[in-house]
Amino acid sequence: MRRLRTEVGIVGAGPAGLALANVLARAGVDCLVVERSSRERVETRQRAGLLEHRTVRWLRGQGLADGLLADATRHGWCDFRCLGHTVRVDYGAYSGGREHWVYPQQRLVSDLIGTLEKAGPPPLFSHTVRAVTDVASRRPRLKCEGMEIECDYVVGCDGFRGVSRAALPATGHRVHNRRYPYDWLTVLAEVDRPAEGVVYAVHPDGFAGMMPRGPRISRFYLQCPPDDSPDAWPAGRIVKELRGRLAGALPTIGALPEVRMLRMRSSVTEPLSHGRLLLAGDAAHVLTPSGAKGMNLAIADAAHLGTALVNRLRHGDGRALASYSSARGADARRVLGFSEWLLGLLHLPNETGAGGPRAELRERLAAIRRLAEPGPESAAFAHRYVGSGAEDGPDDPPG
Ligand code: FAD
Repeated sequence: MRRLRTEVGIVGAGPAGLALANVLARAGVDCLVVERSSRERVETRQRAGLLEHRTVRWLRGQGLADGLLADATRHGWCDFRCLGHTVRVDYGAYSGGREHWVYPQQRLVSDLIGTLEKAGPPPLFSHTVRAVTDVASRRPRLKCEGMEIECDYVVGCDGFRGVSRAALPATGHRVHNRRYPYDWLTVLAEVDRPAEGVVYAVHPDGFAGMMPRGPRISRFYLQCPPDDSPDAWPAGRIVKELRGRLAGALPTIGALPEVRMLRMRSSVTEPLSHGRLLLAGDAAHVLTPSGAKGMNLAIADAAHLGTALVNRLRHGDGRALASYSSARGADARRVLGFSEWLLGLLHLPNETGAGGPRAELRERLAAIRRLAEPGPESAAFAHRYVGSGAEDGPDDPPG
């Protein structure tokens, strides 16, 4: 049995674990990231792509944004299509110039691995943590095949189905769990030109969306019945549905390298800690892709925890660590509220009122138009959507 010792053991080399490890390693805190997948796998896994204003501001402040500052594109508007109308919401203008940065998650992950290698030990790839134990003691442990790591703190950044959450006691934690009455087919598609911005379609056959990802690739979503199978969606049907629901100008869609079904659910676990185990990112809260918030929340957790653990371990100041769970839990619930509100706007109910789906659609169109006109409603939407960080705190200059 190989026995290792570190100050902070981090389970999972996703955006949360890697952002945290970078902060700790640069501050001279000994930490070790343990990741079950190979390096190649984590550097090629395509998921998110929209980084919020506040996320980029933090990454930049940490010197972790060189790749994205060089290569990301910026977007400050989105289009809603409904009843044959396209309504452009210029959220950049309504949030004082803040924009999204489009940068694929796998590129950010790859950048964070590269910067971590320069500051400290690289992640232990292809090592699965089987259990997190002794979390209520001063020496929690990560148990892997043939290896045990003794830590001062363990941070579980191992996603929704990881082992860290399972190490919480059975009682004493509140879990918000919600399963939505639909799923989303998620499709990565080769395109002849980049999506110029996010497009959302509210349609009687179900929601459809187009998200920019790169010059030759876009992500698309299609609402389906719950528990539908990707096998029911051959390429021809996908393209036909996208064209029908997103009616309007679209890039030409070519090969579909990824077609998956997303089971639409959300879950927030609170408190985000127990003893010396702290949860961050999807391990603590998982949201649907509505509003593109998951990776941004994961990095915001890492930002708080990085400062908190450095203060605790290097300066003996435990205040930020003590406030971690309440501060980050409150932010996750606030962001979940926004994400659910957007889901409500984009999906028609199964049962429509006396006026039928057309009356519902007219109401949606009116609500969307309010987001496109200057005023408090569009400003509130813009700040929440772009993640300005100014929603409930002091304002900051656009960057
Ligand atoms: P993850 O990225 O899931 O990383 C967890 C890591 O832990 C993985 O590498 C995993 O292999 C590892 N692991 C798990 N178990 C173990 C174990 N036992 N031992 C060792 N390692 C383990 N978010 C946005 O902000 N914007 C978007 O536009 C967006 N679009 C999305 C589109 C799709 C299709 C999907 C699926 C998600 C999207 N998200 C988006 C969400 C975003 O991808 C996640 O919220 C983000 O990856 C969470 O980061 P994380 O570090 O918490 O977890």
